[in-house]
This record gives sequence, structure tokens and C-alpha cells, in this order.
Amino acid sequence: MYLCIDLGGSNIRGTWINKYGKSGRVIVLSRPRSLEGTREALSIVIEQIKKDCPEKVQLMGIASAGPMDFSRGVYLYPTNMPELKDFNLKEFILQISGLDLLLENDAQAAALGEIFKGCLAGEKDALVFTLGTGLGSGVIMNQEIWRGKLPAGPELGHLYLGPGRKIRCGCGQTGCAETWLNASALKDLARRNGVEMQSLKELDSLLLERNAQAMKTLEQYGYRLGLYLCQVVSIFGITKIGLAGGLSRLAPYFIQSAHRTLAHRLARRKWLIPESICISPDPEMSALWGMCFLMFRKSRGNA
Ligand SMILES: [Zn+2]
Repeated sequence: MYLCIDLGGSNIRGTWINKYGKSGRVIVLSRPRSLEGTREALSIVIEQIKKDCPEKVQLMGIASAGPMDFSRGVYLYPTNMPELKDFNLKEFILQISGLDLLLENDAQAAALGEIFKGCLAGEKDALVFTLGTGLGSGVIMNQEIWRGKLPAGPELGHLYLGPGRKIRCGCGQTGCAETWLNASALKDLARRNGVEMQSLKELDSLLLERNAQAMKTLEQYGYRLGLYLCQVVSIFGITKIGLAGGLSRLAPYFIQSAHRTLAHRLARRKWLIPESICISPDPEMSALWGMCFLMFRKSRGNA
């Protein structure tokens, strides 16, 4: 039995999952923007899952945004959670639960989760993108997270996607794909098309009504995504694509436009056109499934 947690910028969510992928109810707490508050919220979530869990927990896995020193379990300079800098998560978990901890980057865990239980279940090779506050990526080769020669792997959200977007990315640069495709980019695009809204949730109801400006916004977003996917498939030669994260729920409105862009850009290199672009059936579970997959493998001695 595995205890899986997704520690993100806004929320801490977790559940127990067994090796067959069966899971309990998901506990979600909003994460206070302080180290002390995070420690406390994390303890509450863990305590609650342990109470719910029908069997003894063997191992704990946490997916979180990096960059992190995975071997020591320490946050380095987390872009979206600066208050956690130098926090030794591994030591803290051992202290409060006595459990050994497996850590993974949240987007990479989500990518594994999608080939384990999600939209690409059973696939060996895949590129999975987490569209949300940021643009996370996971490259899966032979059912392993591929990191190249880097400790944290490639960061495909920082590929350059062209000038014209002046917003500075968390990495300090402008023009990163993340600034063209994340939630605030979509909000800005909607505003440019005359859609005024407080939160992106309002876009959902406009799309249901097939509001022309909202539809145009998603069409343009799909074009951007198509341009981006042209680059990543050309680099990795992997044509199974998965989309996860909060914005993936809007895929029915942007996916056709992304496909059209790919077909046009890759008209003379048809072998690079993605065989499929799949949408996560439950984006809130992707990283939790991924952690379970990793722990399952570790406990069988294969990781
Ligand atoms: Zn960047």
C-alpha cells in the first residue's frame, strides 16, 4: 500500500493507492504560503490518509515542483514556492511518519501516471505536458523518465516559442513556451479577444454557450500548442502525446486547431505528425498515479 502526495503551489492533495491502481478518497488542503503552514498542512493530509488506508502503508511518495535535490530530498530554488527553499522534505517526513520517502518532479510523475493509469496506459514511450499555472513536461522512454545527462531532465516549458510575449518567465527570460501556453497566457488571449473575466472558470461556461470570442481564443491557443508540439516531436521523435493539468479539460475546444497546425507544419515530414494526442481522464490524479507506479517498481527492486 502506498501513500501518494502531490505538493503543489496552491494545494496539497493525497491518497492511498495499491499496486493495482485502486485508490482511496483524495484529501485536498490548500497550501499556506509559509514553511510552517506547509509543514502543518502536510502533516494533516498524511494523518488523514493513514486513517483512511485499509492496510499498513509501506512507502510514501511525494510529487512536487522543483528544482529539488532528489537524493537528499531538499528544495533548491522552487520558482513558485520560494518559502520552501532549503526545506528538507525527506527528513521531515521521516520525523513525522517514520516512512522512507520517494520524491519526483510533479510533471514527470504526471507523465508516468498517464502511461500507468491515464490516457496513455500501457505505452512505453510518450511526451506528456502539464498545462496549468506553468508548462510542465515529462519525457518517457521505455516506461522510464528520461533525463538525458541532467539530474532533473529537460525543461521543455522553457523552449523558445517566439517574440511578442513580453511577460517574463519564472526562469528570467521572455519568449518561453510556458509564457505562451500557461493559464495566464490563455487569460490574456481571452482578454485580447474581448472576453473579460476574473477567473478561467468563467471561460468554461462561455464555451458551453459557444460564445464566438471564447471559441476564437481556444482556436488560437490550439495554434500555439500545435507550433510547440511540432518542435518537441521533432526533437524526441516520440509521437504519442499526452495532455494533463487543469487546462487539459478545455482540449475539446483547442485540439482540432492543434492538429491542423501540426498537419500543416509537418506536411512534408508526415512521420513526425503525432499518432495521437490524448487527454488525461483525471488530471488531478496523474501525479499520484505516477508516484504509485514508481513506488511499486521500487518495492519490487526494479528502480
Ligand atoms: Zn522560461
